[in-house]
Amino acid sequence: MKQLRMYNNKKILILGLAKSGYSAALLLHQLGASLIVNDLKRYEENEKAKELEQLGIEVVCGGHPLHLLDNDFDLIVKNPGIRYDNPLIEEAKKRNIPVITEVELAYQVSKAEFIGITGSNGKTTTTMLINELLKESNQQPLIAGNIGTVVSDVATDASEENVIVTELSSFQLMGIVEFKPKVSVLLNIFDAHLDYHGSKVAYVAAKSNVCMNQSQEDFFIYNADDELVTAIAKKCAATLIPFSQKKKLANGAWVNNRIVHFNDEPIISTTKIALPGEHNLENVLAAIAVAKLYGVQNEWIERVLTTFQGVKHRLEYIVTVDGRKFYNDSKATNLLATEKAITSFDAPVILLAGGLDRGNGFDELIPVFKKHVKSVVSFGETAEKLQQTALRAGVHSTKIVQSMEEAVRTAYEFSTEGDVILLSPACASWDQYKTFEERGDMFINSVHKLKV
Ligand code: ADP
Repeated sequence: MKQLRMYNNKKILILGLAKSGYSAALLLHQLGASLIVNDLKRYEENEKAKELEQLGIEVVCGGHPLHLLDNDFDLIVKNPGIRYDNPLIEEAKKRNIPVITEVELAYQVSKAEFIGITGSNGKTTTTMLINELLKESNQQPLIAGNIGTVVSDVATDASEENVIVTELSSFQLMGIVEFKPKVSVLLNIFDAHLDYHGSKVAYVAAKSNVCMNQSQEDFFIYNADDELVTAIAKKCAATLIPFSQKKKLANGAWVNNRIVHFNDEPIISTTKIALPGEHNLENVLAAIAVAKLYGVQNEWIERVLTTFQGVKHRLEYIVTVDGRKFYNDSKATNLLATEKAITSFDAPVILLAGGLDRGNGFDELIPVFKKHVKSVVSFGETAEKLQQTALRAGVHSTKIVQSMEEAVRTAYEFSTEGDVILLSPACASWDQYKTFEERGDMFINSVHKLKV
């Protein structure tokens, strides 16, 4: 990593530990900063805080007291999950203390260049796919970001030979200052996380940060079928590489007669792509554009695309029981993802959905319910709303259930041979589960119990 001197003896507050705050603290400690680490979790059960304390770092646990700011900090490194309307952040803004997220720090120390991937949906899938494509051509990609590995952990170990393939959330992107990826990818923009950002304008602005520091020698790969994304491209200084499922493009990645092209060159037939669903084609087009920029040969692209089946909990095929195919799409935490999942199938769908209530309705799903859905089994805080939407769509086979096991059993009872039974909740999981992974795993276990 680059041995930065700029943080030596600087007073820095690390706000929120989790994985990225912990890594940021270690990194800044190593760079000579004078740190205070502040975390909501109580000291007694805060192992990470205790570990940092052992290194001589001051820790304050159990709340975010405003008087901390009397320490005259030069900088705050904020965990992406902490909202900007947190009183401590609002007060910091009044005092003109810069607030960044850990990804900015990672960029500053990294010797490797970055590929930054963002969008409302498809980030993880596209990030994994790009990583696979670069690996196939013997390059040395390192995967990082929202996906599970902290960006600064990856960046500190990276050399000039590497390229860091980074999944970026809007929360992370709000805290960047100079972060300048060599290649940025913007997949789509859909109403998501509006509770955090406060408005769609603020959410779109956060997403557009992915390319705000790029210049002509960098590349911006964007979805030309998405109006908001295209508007961002118009203002972006990077070299533009569009992709489209709908129109022929003079440059970029596009589809015609089921053949994916890059510029004027045919690359692969869509029928050979292992990832299911139209939405995944969007991710594939973006990933192909990145691969071509990095010189990945067409035969290698084909090899990866014919074998890469996707990421766990994203439209993941589980098993066929008595002619019913089960799919786990637990990561579908918003309407668009669920809509895309449902329309990926020709067969009638028995939908398992529901979860945390963010206050939105589900009526946007009525057209796809009408066309593709046979039954709706709903659960969690939004169970009734989803049932009402189903009834309004003319889907009369519905039931509200209390557990995943009951959901799977009910879905099976509603189904006949040839149906698809799909968990695609359209909601976050936190009302009933710790994570979407836990919810998906419960689904998989319940499905396997059906067989015995
Ligand atoms: P993210 O990391 O942005 O949440 P994932 O790749 O984890 O995206 O996929 C999340 C959910 O969105 C899954 O349910 C998946 O089926 C759906 N999805 C994936 N790609 C897209 C896309 N391009 N457009 C709409 N939905 C998508």
